Amino acid sequence: MRIVILGPPGAGKGTQAVLLASRLAIPHISTGEIMRTAVAQGTPLGLAVKGYLDSGALVPDQLVIDLIGERLAQKDTQKGFLLDGFPRTVDQARALDQLLERLKLSLSDIVQLNVPDQVLIDRIMKRAESGSGRSDDNREVAASRLQTYWTQTAPVTAYYRERRPVTDIDGLGTVQEIHDRTFNALTQKK
Ligand code: AMP
Repeated sequence: MRIVILGPPGAGKGTQAVLLASRLAIPHISTGEIMRTAVAQGTPLGLAVKGYLDSGALVPDQLVIDLIGERLAQKDTQKGFLLDGFPRTVDQARALDQLLERLKLSLSDIVQLNVPDQVLIDRIMKRAESGSGRSDDNREVAASRLQTYWTQTAPVTAYYRERRPVTDIDGLGTVQEIHDRTFNALTQKK
């Protein structure tokens, strides 16, 4: 399966992505995680993206598109993959379609994790206050990440809805409930 998981910050997307990829035995590809590791290691990529990550702003499209192009060229993706945190803009979604077309592949599923705005704001602010250890988890950055989601990333879901079915998942409940809901929705429709 070749899956994209979409959802606002605070929806639990990262947690669900890890569980789902593991259960489906496909690589979990998180652009945020790849870049956080690069920052921690002080690689040229890390130095280039640190400022964006710290402020909660999006890294320029071309940089992330190149990163995903390289990652999808690796052998382990032949059995499928789950993209988490990419695409984040409509231009990235278009670039992904082109990339997959060149590889003669297509996405099998788009998952949209839905959580009401007020719940998101409460969760993300709590996370910011408790200090998760992530440099982008503080109130200002959290608010800016939500704003970025609404203006730049929500249109990605609209882009996909116009082109193919999107599997909507209710993101309220326990981690396990949401995981089972997602897994069942993806496997039962086959
Ligand atoms: P995440 O772990 O997915 O929440 O991503 C953390 C941060 O990495 C984001 O706030 C952005 O600064 C950056 N980032 C991750 N993925 C992308 C992407 N696809 N496009 C642009 N910036 C990204």
